[in-house]
Amino acid sequence: MDSTMQHTPLLISSLLRFGTTVFAEQKVITWTGEGARELTYAEVGQRAAQLAHALRKLGIDGDQRVGTFMWNNAEHLITYLAVPSMGAVLHALNIRLFPPQIVYVATHADDRIVIVDNTLAKPFSGLLAHLPGVQHVIVNGSIDDETRAALEAPEHVVAVHDWDALLEGEPTAYDWPEDLDENSASSMCYTSGTTGNPKGVAYSHRSNYLHAVTAALALGAKQGDRLLVVVPLFHANAWGFPYLAMAVGASLIMPDRFLQAAPLAAMIEREKVTFGAGVPTIWNDLLSYLETNPADLSTCRGLVVGGAAAPPAMMKAFQEEHGITIIHAWGMTEMSPIGTVAIPPTTVEPGSDEYWRYAAAQGRLVVGVEGRLVGPDDSIAPWDGESVGELEVRGPWITRSYYANGRESDVDRMEMESKFHDGWLRTGDVGTLSEDAFLVLTDRAKDVIKSGGEWISSVDLENAIMAHPDVREASVVGVPDDRWGERPLASVVLRAGSPTTVEDVREWLAGRLPKWMLPERWAVIDEVPKTSVGKFDKKVLRKRYAEGELEVQTLA
Ligand code: AMP
Repeated sequence: MDSTMQHTPLLISSLLRFGTTVFAEQKVITWTGEGARELTYAEVGQRAAQLAHALRKLGIDGDQRVGTFMWNNAEHLITYLAVPSMGAVLHALNIRLFPPQIVYVATHADDRIVIVDNTLAKPFSGLLAHLPGVQHVIVNGSIDDETRAALEAPEHVVAVHDWDALLEGEPTAYDWPEDLDENSASSMCYTSGTTGNPKGVAYSHRSNYLHAVTAALALGAKQGDRLLVVVPLFHANAWGFPYLAMAVGASLIMPDRFLQAAPLAAMIEREKVTFGAGVPTIWNDLLSYLETNPADLSTCRGLVVGGAAAPPAMMKAFQEEHGITIIHAWGMTEMSPIGTVAIPPTTVEPGSDEYWRYAAAQGRLVVGVEGRLVGPDDSIAPWDGESVGELEVRGPWITRSYYANGRESDVDRMEMESKFHDGWLRTGDVGTLSEDAFLVLTDRAKDVIKSGGEWISSVDLENAIMAHPDVREASVVGVPDDRWGERPLASVVLRAGSPTTVEDVREWLAGRLPKWMLPERWAVIDEVPKTSVGKFDKKVLRKRYAEGELEVQTLA
């Protein structure tokens, strides 16, 4: 029997129209260093229309790709809304990738036009000569003559435009196409989480729409919220924030290039942020900064932390010292990205040990995401909180393949295929699921340490070491060991000025962990190397160790 319901497609343009009219008074606020500039959502809607008209005139047609090379700011939000709404595909480029990788992804995605922030125009001009498909560059903000000349130099560049001049005079309304297929691509992100070349994911209008609404529900975002989006708009679909803000009527606070603890504290205080999103390292830095630079963060009720494991010590410190609840979440670029959100059951006493066990877990599967744990022999492990397996997932905002244009190498193609298993996405993450659907990750499949037949979770060790009051950051990797096959190496950043040594940390740890888990190899470092999206970069630590660059102390 056919349903009697209308077949209204779920489109980004509906979110754009809804957010910018129904919540016309909400704002996008972009930090400028000294203060902030503001646009209402009504103005955002008008500029999105102007941008769409301008892009059409520059030849954007069908599902052609429009790239961005930008920080989080109002113009990036406008592009996030306008490009998919007109039927084209948004490709937010990760500005922190190595130049050859940026060239690879922009070429692979076939980006035609790239919108660039003025503060990034110089580095972008160095890449442009290697991007023959890019015909137009639009610069947000003013640039000097030298940078303009560098952008105009490659023969394939038809013209370099100024954002304001390009939009000026264009109509402030646009007849957004309503006949788009909700399953057609709206936007893309590449993930460099794997070996080989980065892999592209093409989100659809439908997946983005459903993800935005579910993410808002699962995270508890609400009308009038002031959301500080530290997660870059190029990382994992910006965790859905631009679209969920339109859906619930929340304002967005965009930090632009001011991502250090001091400006973030100022933004939270001055812009009365109620909720924020970012990777753990950002918030860990903020926490250390607040120790000596008090700020009034009383408006902020929560921060969603994901992309890497949130250290429990950091979560407790935010709660106890600042009254801010850290909401731990887990996801992947391939999942739009949200898969789990750690909100303890209401039956659990807040602040109890049980509460913290739930809060520190990666979280409970959100509605729409199905998970299963697969053992090495392809058996399915039970949801008992103990049996360990690789997590596989499926659902309406989880990719069913990587984007291929037919020009991939054999190695890339094999790798792309190996990530899917009977219609499920293999996450590469290893852990347990409890009866009530809470995921606890013990490791990435490739990061678990196998020592004399016992598995050691690098995440457990890192969390235990980072619970020491004088440790700022710690990263643990497995290194070859003659006797045990592999043993953990702990690289530790000690709090500035503290007299604590790694011997002290090891001794402290000895009272808390079984002996076989205690690392013998320790290195004191100035900073844990980070990936392009701010996660601990274990590849770099392994390489430094292998090349003898780390000063390692052996403690027994
Ligand atoms: P990306 O798509 O680059 O954000 O990488 C996704 C990967 O980040 C996941 O497969 C996990 O390995 C890791 N990750 C994301 N969130 C968490 C979390 N809350 N705890 C531990 N690892 C995480």
